[in-house]
Amino acid sequence: MPTPTLHDPELCQALLRRLEDLLDRPMRFMEVCGTHTVSIFRGGLRTLLPEQVTHLTGPGCPVCVTHDREVAAFLKLAEQPNVIIATFGDLMRVPGPDGRSLKHAQADGARVSVIYSPLDALTLAADNPDATVVFLGVGFETTAPAVAATVLAAEQRKLDNFAVFSCHKLVPPALAALLGDPDNGIDAFLLPGHVSTVLGLSPFRFVAEDWKRPAIVAGFEPADILDALCRMARQYREGEFKVENAYPRAVNDDGNPKARAILSQVFRTADALWRGLGVIPGSGLALAPAYQRFDALARLGLSLPETKPLPGCRCGEVLKGKMPPNECPLFGKVCTPANPVGPCMVSTEGSCSAYFKYGL
Ligand code: SF4
Repeated sequence: MPTPTLHDPELCQALLRRLEDLLDRPMRFMEVCGTHTVSIFRGGLRTLLPEQVTHLTGPGCPVCVTHDREVAAFLKLAEQPNVIIATFGDLMRVPGPDGRSLKHAQADGARVSVIYSPLDALTLAADNPDATVVFLGVGFETTAPAVAATVLAAEQRKLDNFAVFSCHKLVPPALAALLGDPDNGIDAFLLPGHVSTVLGLSPFRFVAEDWKRPAIVAGFEPADILDALCRMARQYREGEFKVENAYPRAVNDDGNPKARAILSQVFRTADALWRGLGVIPGSGLALAPAYQRFDALARLGLSLPETKPLPGCRCGEVLKGKMPPNECPLFGKVCTPANPVGPCMVSTEGSCSAYFKYGL
């Protein structure tokens, strides 16, 4: 008899029946990972879940949580003479406060290069010694170690024309900020599988210990997610809350100490500005004093521009799980993936984009 795969319909049906048996109360769970957002929609889980279970999408898409002021700074950096912007492609179409994106800046002559690895930025720096290459560092604990390794490689190769604009964000402080909102309505967290490969379980224990909520590290297949929901329901039924690792095939309970070591060598924690959530203390990564010379804003004498929110866009509420995307008045009318008004519709991992693509 073959082993069922993690998207096997019979396995998923059995997990759904188990979930129904375990549930003895309504349960609103939030995922905080763009890959989970897409997996839940693509797997059709929202239509299959028991009525008592509500799925909230959280601030798990790194492009979406990048603040207007940071996007405005990308454009400001792109305007500087002798600067080459190196970025992943998902930032190219994110609209700044006046609707302009890096794509527009590129069309107007700015030097913007789409790269596939932070190390590609070093190749650009080596090939363009008269320019300053600025890498736009957007992402969570998952992507930041590779950026830290790139800074170390730049130092080793003496590439003094390389710099980073660090907009990295840290997930645990964002969860604390969400839980600190008295109207949060969150009963449980589906913890991000990728981020947990770096952090392990410890940084999430406060969710269970201080807030009495289940927090389950989960994989990305439908059966992974359903298993995690069963574990949440069981914790409520038993009245015992803890962090569980339901993704041991990828996540060690202790995470990846080497990745964390390189992060703490190159970066220090700093307050960070999140779209929708505002400033969250200790939720970002700034370059550590020994690597300050790689800080793009400091090197170019720039600071975050002041901005006004994107008119009509409700991404902030969507990212806090307070509004489903289809309740935004612009959803599917003015705002579509082909003509996005806000970042949640731009990124393939954004909630608005997932709602639009998969319906519901
Ligand atoms: Fe913003 Fe568009 Fe989503 Fe509305 S539908 S919240 S305008 S991205």
